[in-house]
Amino acid sequence: MRWPRSWIASPRPTPGRPLLTATYPYVFDPEHAPLEARAAAFAGTGTIRDRVAALGAAGLLARRDTRSLAVVRRQLAWRDPLDDLAFVIQELGCTPLERANALPEVVASARSGARVLVFGLTEPNAGSDVRGIETRAVPHGGGYRLTGTKHFISNAPDCDGAVVFARLGEHVGCFFVEQPPTSAQNVAAHSIGRLELDDTPAVLVAERGLSLAFATLERCRPSVAAAAVGLATRALDETRTYVQTRRQFGAPLAALPVVRHRVAEMAVELESATLAMLHACWKRDAAAPGERTGYTSAVGKIVATEAAQRIIDTAVQLHGGVGVEESSVVQQLYRAVRPLRIYEGATDVLYTVIADHVLGTV
Ligand SMILES: Cc1cc2nc3c(=O)[nH]c(=O)nc-3n(C[C@H](O)[C@H](O)[C@H](O)COP(=O)(O)OP(=O)(O)OC[C@H]3O[C@@H](n4cnc5c(N)ncnc54)[C@H](O)[C@@H]3O)c2cc1C
Repeated sequence: MRWPRSWIASPRPTPGRPLLTATYPYVFDPEHAPLEARAAAFAGTGTIRDRVAALGAAGLLARRDTRSLAVVRRQLAWRDPLDDLAFVIQELGCTPLERANALPEVVASARSGARVLVFGLTEPNAGSDVRGIETRAVPHGGGYRLTGTKHFISNAPDCDGAVVFARLGEHVGCFFVEQPPTSAQNVAAHSIGRLELDDTPAVLVAERGLSLAFATLERCRPSVAAAAVGLATRALDETRTYVQTRRQFGAPLAALPVVRHRVAEMAVELESATLAMLHACWKRDAAAPGERTGYTSAVGKIVATEAAQRIIDTAVQLHGGVGVEESSVVQQLYRAVRPLRIYEGATDVLYTVIADHVLGTV
């Protein structure tokens, strides 16, 4: 197994990097500030398994509200997106089990960092349209057996257990599979693979599994926006330092009016992305039980991930040739930000959610 390397290894961040809880105190409760400070001090290394264990030891994996996910993900993504990946996939794995009140011992060990869980929804013939799931469950003894392939499953190569969605009669059930067989896929800056299920033993979590899957994605979607904001914040920080130190035409790049304007544009985009993300997170936390927040979550994810892509593109541009060197942070940010516009609801799919909200369904 080839472990992903820590691709944005960096010393601790720019001194004075503002915390969300300090800049936007009106969005947060008292417990969020110490949590954000703890996430800012976190520095994982090694495999996903190592990072999950370290996150557990740092007390960052406990179940918390959506604003907590956001402050943690923004900090982790800023420094090293592999830490963010380790963090959020545990959340995706635990949430369906928690919502179904199932397998508390599995949840407890995942939340302590002792066990790596993954979330297995996507299949080769069922991506955006998960109703096309083909993986099948059949009863066997007191349990079930699953057969089918899940692909693009984050952290699959490192996992100890998988929450898997599979066809069970006319419904899609939710199952738990201990030590699923896996094979690796290759996506830059990511740990990812397939679940190769072939008559694999499984435990039933819930017969109506799709509602658990959708509720899990709805809970976590605003935090994708927070990860995007973390990557974009890092891009702006790198760019600020670079244009203030790189000299051309006898002065720092930061003296050039066009460069100043581009950096100002990055800051405006980042501010609006951050506000849309915070609104989506707050809205989820303030929602009454059963209240749907799909519209604001979709808006937050689109605004933040699309803005982060543009901010990071400008960062690469302002770094010139250095910006496309393999070793440069902004080049790595460029690769890291791209999947955020695809997973947990591709931008185009989320626009259909927004259109339905505005226009109603036809
Ligand atoms: C890095 C990464 C990590 C992932 N991690 C996980 C994971 O841990 N667990 C998991 O289950 N899945 C995971 N996924 C899978 C991810 O959720 C899917 O890639 C995503 O749902 C899109 O499905 P697809 O790739 O099959 O694209 P398709 O569904 O084939 O769609 C391709 C494109 O077509 C367009 N499109 C599709 N449907 C519509 C529509 N209704 N309206 C308008 N446009 C549309 C969009 O532009 C979309 O991007 C991951 C993917 C990536 C890239």
